[in-house]
Amino acid sequence: MSTQPPTTGFRGQVLIIGGGIGGNALGLFLKKAGISSTIFEGYPYKQAVGGGLGLAPNGMNVLHALGLAEMAKSRATVALENVFLNQQGKLLARFKNGTVEAFGQPGICILRSTLYDILTEAAKKQGIDIRYQKKLKTITYAADKVIAHFEDGTSAEGDLLIGADGVHSQTRHLILPNAPKPQYVGIIGVGGVTPAAAVPNMTRREKEAFTFTYGASGFFGYGCGENGDVLWWSNLVRERELTRDEILNVSVEDIQREMMAIFKGYHEPIETLIRNTHSPIKMNVSDIQTLPTWHNGRVVLLGDAAHAVSPNSGQGASMALEDAMLLAKLLHHSADYARVFSRYEQERKPRVEKIVAEGRRLAGDKKVVTPFQQKIRELMMTVFINLFGTRGQKWLYGYKVAWE
Ligand SMILES: Cc1cc2nc3c(=O)[nH]c(=O)nc-3n(C[C@H](O)[C@H](O)[C@H](O)COP(=O)(O)OP(=O)(O)OC[C@H]3O[C@@H](n4cnc5c(N)ncnc54)[C@H](O)[C@@H]3O)c2cc1C
Repeated sequence: MSTQPPTTGFRGQVLIIGGGIGGNALGLFLKKAGISSTIFEGYPYKQAVGGGLGLAPNGMNVLHALGLAEMAKSRATVALENVFLNQQGKLLARFKNGTVEAFGQPGICILRSTLYDILTEAAKKQGIDIRYQKKLKTITYAADKVIAHFEDGTSAEGDLLIGADGVHSQTRHLILPNAPKPQYVGIIGVGGVTPAAAVPNMTRREKEAFTFTYGASGFFGYGCGENGDVLWWSNLVRERELTRDEILNVSVEDIQREMMAIFKGYHEPIETLIRNTHSPIKMNVSDIQTLPTWHNGRVVLLGDAAHAVSPNSGQGASMALEDAMLLAKLLHHSADYARVFSRYEQERKPRVEKIVAEGRRLAGDKKVVTPFQQKIRELMMTVFINLFGTRGQKWLYGYKVAWE
């Protein structure tokens, strides 16, 4: 890492496209570096939805650098363990989900919308300009400037443009029109939130864990978020992607019917979670295994736009946070944006591509199996997860971007 004093850093205006997890974090880190940015979010304020997600110790360390880790912990539940059960509730394996002693921060389970609120409120408090309903349409260039044009007919000019506009990134489409598109991995994600009061018998140990149940007819996972409410999710194998209409018009009744058809008779509290759920969500699971490059001229990609990773990895939000911190740090130390973009890509690409590949492998474990295949899978999980569950944690959770 460069040891140049920050006075040599980048001093232009940055346009951030996408005010999700990565876009807001980037705005905050650029502010810390003394670099001015404006965030352009395609949708209205507070339209951020999403189910529960895991923020691993590596993601939490990035929030810590922004002074937001304590706030996140207070609005989530610390996830101390990963627990694997079969559909009768028999314990197959369990291992620690990283420790504070080893990694500085714990992993947490949090609602995506809560994490979004924490970052957005912090950005607003810092005076970062966030504009809503500014959906990027196209990009043009003039002299040493880049110009973002939005669907409402307005435009904005800056020195750099950073595309943090998610898995279906328009920025990526514009700068890399021939690059691979996000690929549906053959699985849909379904989830919801169940009030803590509906499951009064959950023990503290159960609440402070991610529980993953692998049954013959499907996979069901849960952890706890703010105030102990249970955030649950399931992955269903589907040949066909959900239509936009199916995603937008999901109802509690439909989800309950669909989930009970698969998980009836599974160990408690699964049926209770389904029967008492609210905030249903359905989404297609897509990823991008690799892109030829992440940048073109004055434009660079960040987060899911650069490396959409399946939620099975539990690392989507953490990867976007790491990207934001590294990119802002490099710009803090160098005005040579072309070199910064190359270095950022060089440092990040091998790590995120490994995580994308692992996420895809885990998605394959969610297949429906015969009772015989289920017995074999249980045996394999008991042996291998207990033996090797924590292997690789040092590499994954121990990654840190040192700001100075
Ligand atoms: C609706 C939704 C629900 C999700 N639910 C889950 C979940 O339940 N579990 C999980 O693990 N992960 C979930 N994810 C994925 C997870 O949030 C991401 O992996 C992670 O946040 C990566 O951050 P990001 O900033 O790259 O992308 P995101 O956080 O997705 O942010 C991208 C932002 O760009 C905006 N945008 C898109 N197109 C444009 C455009 N043309 N112009 C301007 N802005 C644009 C989007 O509205 C969004 O706010 C969800 C993502 C979304 C968008």
